[in-house]
Amino acid sequence: MPDVGRLLVCATPIGNLGDVTLRVLDVLRSADVILAEDTRVTRKLLARYDLHTPLERYDEATAAVRTPVVVERIASGATVALVSDAGTPGISDPGARLVDAALTAGLPVEVLPGASAIVTALVASGLPTHAFYFGGFLPRKAGELRRALAGLAGLDATLVFYESPRRTAASVAAVAEVFPGRQAAMARELTKLHEEVLRGTTGELARALEGRELKGEVVLLVGPPVADETPVVEDDTIAAAVNALVVAGVSRKDAVKRVSEGLGVPRNDVYRIALRSE
Ligand code: SAM
Repeated sequence: MPDVGRLLVCATPIGNLGDVTLRVLDVLRSADVILAEDTRVTRKLLARYDLHTPLERYDEATAAVRTPVVVERIASGATVALVSDAGTPGISDPGARLVDAALTAGLPVEVLPGASAIVTALVASGLPTHAFYFGGFLPRKAGELRRALAGLAGLDATLVFYESPRRTAASVAAVAEVFPGRQAAMARELTKLHEEVLRGTTGELARALEGRELKGEVVLLVGPPVADETPVVEDDTIAAAVNALVVAGVSRKDAVKRVSEGLGVPRNDVYRIALRSE
């Protein structure tokens, strides 16, 4: 039986061809085959470094069929390098599937770190980095988009999303509605000639992008919650909630406690509002 080969997951530049590591270049030179999302994109990198390793397609459309074949080749001794169009394979591309299949088959997998649009954008945005949440691509449909954003409202973290340039203005407008007052950033064409990082409140960003035709690659970032984001609960809502519980037989003290916890309003305030409405 032949020795097994390896899967080598190689980070490549997100724009500037200089952002490739020496180790990745060594692997791309010596691998038996390079699997690439888009062979035309990867060919530019190989040409720049005078590399002539065979290139094959491995993308969303071919992954289902190709994965078992690639695993079989690694099991038979091949050294396979995996690259994506940009950055670290496995993030919002089919790379994760191949890594999983190789590991499941008990084959060696090594990740060669390097560029990633997520980390580059996060640091370039100047937004807090104590915690961040990566949400991949945002939903396209307006309702789903708002629901997805609203579901993240409580996270004390900077939110990071990949976005298409055509949808950026609409997504930022939704972000401004769901997260008014938060700091945000739009990072475009990072490490490339037309690199741009727009910063401001979500509203300022929405106004700056309204009607603008963007080109290139975009990452959207939204800062953690700010103090004045706490939803305002109307006095009438509080009074009605207490009243409904009292009518249902709950003691006033317990009703005030329940409404306070349920609506996130201090107990004294609930008590005062309920008394006033009697
Ligand atoms: N795996 C990659 C990584 O490590 O970040 C990203 C691949 S993902 C399918 C492609 C998305 O990454 C683009 O739609 C864009 O949102 C983002 N992206 C890639 N290169 C970028 C760049 N130079 N500037 C801004 N965003 C970029």
